[in-house]
Amino acid sequence: MFATGRRPNTKNLGLESVGVKMNKNGAIEADEYSCTTVPSIWTVGDVTDRINLTPVALMEGGALAKTLFQNEPTKPDYRAVPSAVFSQPPIGQVGLTEEQVRNCFTYLQQLKVGKMGHEAKAAAGV
Ligand SMILES: Cc1cc2nc3c(=O)[nH]c(=O)nc-3n(C[C@H](O)[C@H](O)[C@H](O)COP(=O)(O)OP(=O)(O)OC[C@H]3O[C@@H](n4cnc5c(N)ncnc54)[C@H](O)[C@@H]3O)c2cc1C
Repeated sequence: MFATGRRPNTKNLGLESVGVKMNKNGAIEADEYSCTTVPSIWTVGDVTDRINLTPVALMEGGALAKTLFQNEPTKPDYRAVPSAVFSQPPIGQVGLTEEQVRNCFTYLQQLKVGKMGHEAKAAAGV
């Protein structure tokens, strides 16, 4: 199995000269509302190196649109971002792990844990 990576292409945009802070990999730093270190400059998507996936970029953009244009300050919500490994068989995951559920919901008296095989997941479209 091989793996590679990507880096934000933020060199030579003049961001430093206007005061937009970037980390050592060139990702633009954003606060929890996607605002950069310059209050009039906002940023979403891979260039922020938060979770680099298409639906996440869309969700961040949606949250920012609400903040900027609907007067409804909205933080991106990363609680249920699905991820997939396009292997054979494929692997997918979404939501909290069993451990996280136990830690977050300590008041739960009973937690039912189910497991299903790859064939069942494929049939369910998961
Ligand atoms: C090989 C590969 C496979 C992937 N597979 C998946 C997948 O299966 N599922 C998934 O969810 N995500 C996947 N991703 C990630 C997904 O593509 C990104 O998370 C998503 O595109 C991020 O959207 P974005 O708008 O932030 O950035 P981008 O889609 O990269 O858009 C940035 C845009 O800005 C433009 N741009 C760059 N510099 C400048 C400039 N100086 N001036 C003007 N325009 C500029 C670029 O041309 C580009 O159009 C994959 C990525 C790669 C590379």
